[in-house]
Parts: sequence; C-alpha cells; structure tokens
Amino acid sequence: MLFERVAIVGVGLIGGSFALALKKAKACRHVVGVGRSAANLKVATERGVVDSIAPDAAAAARGADLVLLATPLAQFKTVFAQIGSSIGAGTLITDAGSTKQDVISAARDTLKQKIAQFVPSHPIAGAEHSGAAAANAELFRGRRVVLTPLAENSAASVQRITDAWSECGARVSSMRAQEHDAVLAAVSHLPHLIAFALVHEMAGRDNSAELFSYAAGGFRDFTRIASSHPEMWRDICMANRERVLNELSRFTDQLGEVKRLLEKSDAAALEKLFTQAREARGRWLAGEFDA
Ligand code: NAD
Repeated sequence: MLFERVAIVGVGLIGGSFALALKKAKACRHVVGVGRSAANLKVATERGVVDSIAPDAAAAARGADLVLLATPLAQFKTVFAQIGSSIGAGTLITDAGSTKQDVISAARDTLKQKIAQFVPSHPIAGAEHSGAAAANAELFRGRRVVLTPLAENSAASVQRITDAWSECGARVSSMRAQEHDAVLAAVSHLPHLIAFALVHEMAGRDNSAELFSYAAGGFRDFTRIASSHPEMWRDICMANRERVLNELSRFTDQLGEVKRLLEKSDAAALEKLFTQAREARGRWLAGEFDA
C-alpha cells in the first residue's frame, strides 16, 4: 500500500481518475475528496471515486500522506494556502495543473518553508469531458506524466510521486517547468484556442445553422476539443499567456503563408506544404518521437 490516505482537491475528470486508478492498483487505503459542487461530489461518492467527503481543503489534507490538486488553475493559490497549515511533515503534495511555472510560483508564495513537500506534475492525458462522472481508472494508462521537480524536493519525494503516477499506469518523466510551459503552449494550448475560435466564428454567422447541418467528420475531429471546459481553458490561457501569444503569432504567420500561396494560385507549393504536414503527422502517429 503506497498511501494510507489520499486527499483529492477537485474531484473532476483528472482528480477522480487519479483516485480510481490508485484504488484499482490497490495503492491507497482511503480517498477523501473535496469540491465546490455538491452534485459532483454526490456522483463521486456514488461511483466509489471517493470514500469520504471533507468540508474544505484544509480538513481533507489533515492526516493525508498525499494531496492532489486538480481544480482549475485559478483556484490553486487559494487551495495551497488552505492546505499549507494543515499538512503534516510527512504529507506530500502534487498537482495535475496544465501549466507549471505559475503553479510553482503560487506554491512558493503560500507553502513557504513547506515548499519541499510539493512535487509538481502534469498528466498529459485528458478528455473534453469534465466532472466525476467522466472519471476513469484507465485515463492515464500508457500516457505521459511530466514532473517538474523543485530544487528543494528530496529524491525520495520525487520517487514517491513517480510511484503514484506509475501505479496509475503512466509513463513518468521530468523536465524543467519553463520548458514544459513552452512545449505545452505549442502542442496543447494553441490547438485548443484554434478549435474554440473556429467554432465561435462559425457559430456567429447568420447561416450558422446551415453550416453546422452540413459539418461532418472532419469538422467533428478538428473541433472535438472545443467541447472542453471553458473555465479550465480560460485559466490555462491566462496562466501561460505570453507563450500562447507567441504560438498564436507563429500560427498566424503560417496561415498567412497558406493564404499567400492560395492568392498566387501556387498549387505546387500548396501541395508541398500539405505533403510535408501529412508526413510529419504520419511520423508522429507511428511513434517516431516517443520518448
Ligand atoms: P474538471 O472540471 O473535470 O474538475 C475540476 C473539479 O474541481 C470540479 O469538480 C470542480 O467542482 C472542482 N473545483 C473547482 N474549484 C474548486 C475549489 N476551489 N475547491 C475544490 N474543488 C474545486 O476539470 P479537470 O479536467 O479534471 O481538470 C482539473 C485540472 O487538471 C485543471 O487544472 C486542468 O488544467 C488539469 N488538466 C486537465 C486535463 C484535461 O484534459 N481535462 C488534462 C491534464 C490536466
């Protein structure tokens, strides 16, 4: 048994899936959950995601040997402040936040001398669904979890958090928080922004009903992630604002290039660009870049 008592702050898709995966692996004895929606906590209890409910994050963290923060990012600073005074010396904290530099800065500001007990992490796994109803014990299986350990973390603490995610079936690796935020801005945050923007633009047209009635597989695949939780994505965009802006500039430059080729009716150059993109995606799908 890796953990006696695990506290999940934010029992949604990610927090709930972490709880279910640890339980399935028999890696924890008791999961206590805390949330802001009674209806969601009821679902979490009924589905066996949590064993008990705490009235607030401080109470949930008291006596826990592991606390996972899995709320939207804008809540993290408040939650760190709430749990800071109630955790014991043996408690470890980790998180599922999609950005890392802002989370680490919020943790430093609030946990102060207890900062060594926080080992930041980010599961690169998810879905466009939210809440405890969507939680699934297999969500992290075979998927990457990135740790961005702090200089203050002991090797034993990092190992314990590695073990927790490994018990969930994840492949765990480490990188610097700065690098993490830059990489995720490109491969995750930008695509979400584009999907939201595309659907929003179409929905605002006078003939949107007609357009949507003809939209099929391509539109569905491309815009799947525009069904993601708006609050969560607001927080991610705000937390990683500079990098997302940088990625948007690169992308609009590329769109500009495509537009120029079309304006010039340069079919050969357009086909070359499409071919290069298709080949790059093929190599990615074939696992050529897997670590
Ligand atoms: P979710 O909406 O499914 O769950 C978040 C839960 O947090 C909700 O149940 C909500 O009621 C609860 N909550 C909100 N504020 C709270 C507070 N102050 N105290 C306690 N509970 C609170 O969202 P999710 O998809 O599970 O995402 C959770 C975190 O994981 C986010 O920080 C997100 O950036 C990150 N993440 C999400 C994905 C994904 O694809 N969904 C992937 C990786 C990381």
